[in-house]
Order: sequence, then C-alpha cells, then structure tokens
Amino acid sequence: MNDLQKETTVVLVKPDGVKRGLAGEVISRFEKMGLKIIALKMVWADKEMAAKHYPESRADLMKAIGEKTLATYEKYGRDPKEEFGELSAQKIGRMVNKWNIDFITSGPVVAILLEGAHAIDNVRALAGNTLPVFAAPGTIRGDFSIDSPALANAKHRAVRNIIHASGNPEEAKYERQLWFREGEVVDNYKRTDEEIMFE
Ligand code: ATP
Ligand code: MG
Repeated sequence: MNDLQKETTVVLVKPDGVKRGLAGEVISRFEKMGLKIIALKMVWADKEMAAKHYPESRADLMKAIGEKTLATYEKYGRDPKEEFGELSAQKIGRMVNKWNIDFITSGPVVAILLEGAHAIDNVRALAGNTLPVFAAPGTIRGDFSIDSPALANAKHRAVRNIIHASGNPEEAKYERQLWFREGEVVDNYKRTDEEIMFE
C-alpha cells in the first residue's frame, strides 16, 4: 500500500459533541468519507493530559489563537478590550488556552485515530472552520454549531465546536502518542473501498 494511504490523524469529539449525542454522527461522517478507524475510545482527560494537548509553552500557537480571536472582534466591530483589556495576542491566546483546558476536562471525549489518504487535510475539510460561525454548511462544525468567539469570550469560555482535529503532520504524530498507546491501534484489516478506490 502507498505510504500516502497510511497517513493518520487524531479526532476528538469534545464534551459538547459527546453530551449532545453527536459522537456517532461524527464517526459516521469520517467513516463514510473513506477514512479507516484504527483506534477508538472514550476518555475523561485530567488537567495534566489537557495541558499536554493544549501546551501553553508553544508561544507560536498561543499567538495564533490570540490573533484569530482579535480578527473576529474586528470583523464584528466589537472592542476586544471589553473582554481582554490591554492584552497582547499572545496573552489572549494563553487565556483562551486555559478555557480550552477547562472545557476539554469538563466531560468525556471520544478519541478516534483515523487512517487514510491525506487523512489530516481531509478531516479538517470535513470538520470546517474552527469557528462555527464561519464554518460552511455541510461541514461538521457548520451543521452542528453556531458558536463564535464573541459569544464565548463574553462568558469566558471555549468556543463549542464539537471536535478537535490534528492540524498538521507534526501535531498528528504528537497527538497520536498522547492519546493512544500503540497496543490500542488495530490497523491490520482492509476496508472494501481500499480495493474499489485504490487498487
Ligand atoms: P482545532 O485544533 O481545535 O481543530 P484550530 O487549530 O483550527 O482548531 P486554534 O486556533 O488552535 O484552532 O484553537 C483551538 C481551539 O480553541 C478551537 O478548537 C476552539 O475550541 C478554541 N478557541 C479558539 N479561539 C477561541 C476564542 N477566541 N475563544 C474561545 N475559544 C477559542
Ligand atoms: Mg489546533
């Protein structure tokens, strides 16, 4: 099998998705898309695990979250100072990161390891924009959430966007070892579409 077909990525159905009964829907959409489930479990993460998933030490990530947040305030003509005072993008990112940690530990998550061609990009395309208000209809976030940073930040909480998906190969590798032990991975089976699509 071509190496490209073996790309793996991590999807987490976050506590909002699990509590709204959307875990099956999420799994089903990725299954139907053609990605193969090679590990699946329910986990209630503790703060230590959550802090590894959302690492505050990654200054670049914190800045990016802060910048995206500020951009949405600008788009809607809202003043970020109301929620964040004089904070820099970096510090806003760190604050949002804390809300993310609180949220992801607020209930169980369903962790899924998916394998297949361009798994990372295909999953992100079906997930839709991180911020549901901008997510296209047909995507998971667009179909099942209407949340936005403006709504979330007024309540000092994370944006409810149903799922997390690894952003790039480096993140996928890191998250795979964080959420799964290799003994939990079952990839030695064939889906029928492997034959129909790729042989
Ligand atoms: P993900 O990794 O979840 O697919 P992403 O990498 O596209 O998303 P980031 O900007 O890294 O997005 O944000 C990580 C998570 O932080 C988002 O999934 C969302 O739940 C939450 N989030 C992002 N911006 C805000 C915000 N301004 N307020 C609250 N929560 C936010
Ligand atoms: Mg991310």
